[in-house]
Amino acid sequence: MNEFSWVFIASLVLMTAVELWLSLRQGRHVAAHRDNVPTAFAEDVSLDAHQKAADYTQAKGKFNRFGSVFSAVVLLAWTFAGGLNVLFEAWQSLGFSDIVTSVAFILSFFVVGSLIELPVDWYKTFVLEQRFGFNKNTPALFLSDLAKQMLLVLIIGAPLIWGALWLMGSTGDYWWLYLWGAWMGFALFMMWAYPAFIAPLFNEFKPLEDQQLKTRVEDLLARCGFKSQGIFVMDGSRRSGHGNAYFTGLGGNKRIVFFDTLLDTLDEDQIEAVLAHELGHFKRKHVIKNMGVMALLSLVGLGLLGWAAAEPWFYEGLGVHSQNNALALVLFMLVIPVFSFFLHPMMTAMSRKYEYEADDYAASVSSGEHLIQALVALYQENASTLTPDPLVSAVYDSHPPATLRVAHLQSR
Ligand SMILES: [Zn+2]
Repeated sequence: MNEFSWVFIASLVLMTAVELWLSLRQGRHVAAHRDNVPTAFAEDVSLDAHQKAADYTQAKGKFNRFGSVFSAVVLLAWTFAGGLNVLFEAWQSLGFSDIVTSVAFILSFFVVGSLIELPVDWYKTFVLEQRFGFNKNTPALFLSDLAKQMLLVLIIGAPLIWGALWLMGSTGDYWWLYLWGAWMGFALFMMWAYPAFIAPLFNEFKPLEDQQLKTRVEDLLARCGFKSQGIFVMDGSRRSGHGNAYFTGLGGNKRIVFFDTLLDTLDEDQIEAVLAHELGHFKRKHVIKNMGVMALLSLVGLGLLGWAAAEPWFYEGLGVHSQNNALALVLFMLVIPVFSFFLHPMMTAMSRKYEYEADDYAASVSSGEHLIQALVALYQENASTLTPDPLVSAVYDSHPPATLRVAHLQSR
């Protein structure tokens, strides 16, 4: 234990306390508004649906409070309780070369980590989501997803980790700069490769068949000057009743993906408005700006890692006996969420500003009225609360509360 230990423990305790406090605040706020649908929605949302959303929010809150404490305990187990020491020394005792030991250690850290999370994910899917009628997943599909994810971690992760450790060991004091360059290259490659090669491993993507809707969508794309490599429908209903639409891909490889659940919930006008909102994120350069922010944050993060990895206090302060690049990487992945938690309000504020801009764009190329209808339908379908606590929303929510979004669209 050293001074860094106390800085870390204090941040972890503060983060967990803030999370619990915010969650309890959210619960109180939602409970206080449970019996009245907000006036702006009174015509479209029934009291029943409003109360279902309140109960779902409460149940998720309880689950998240457990999750916050659970994650903190797991983090302490890996660090001060010696979890990383045990895992690293076990691999070391097998007598492989340094690089093989290091790669195996990091991969096994990921595998053990997801096994620890398994019961929590299982409960969320088969108890919490099930209770509110959203779960469509089956234990067999859940386990086959997990097996595929682990296999991907091994196939993609092993060469990636090997490459990172090689850069760290052979490019001198500025290895973190090289590592950053490599990481950016990989991130761009994955944006290009994910929709074509990885997403199809988990879901089925079919070209949109509804000709009338397809013409409607193509008209909108032409109006907005947007080129895509196709419009697809994804079988989101295999796992969950929650609906969504998104863009994916890079450059000429961009695709539009609708969840089948979304197509069932919304009519043609509303789908067009939702798509126009998503196009707004491209047209207003949010996608590029977000990538820029991520690139900058990872540069700062890796710079910090470059500094900490060479300092004995970093390892000692987190309860780790050995000092090497593999441990530095794993420790970094464990501690960075604790310190970056306090950046959340800034990141979400930026994101909410973008949501208003995308709504403005949608209203100008499609229809604000249809977008409002779509929002109301989606909030209802997903049992999202219409009455979040304002402070909680300011910290966590990437989207402004429904009442503010609708008011903004109506004020145009
Ligand atoms: Zn958006």
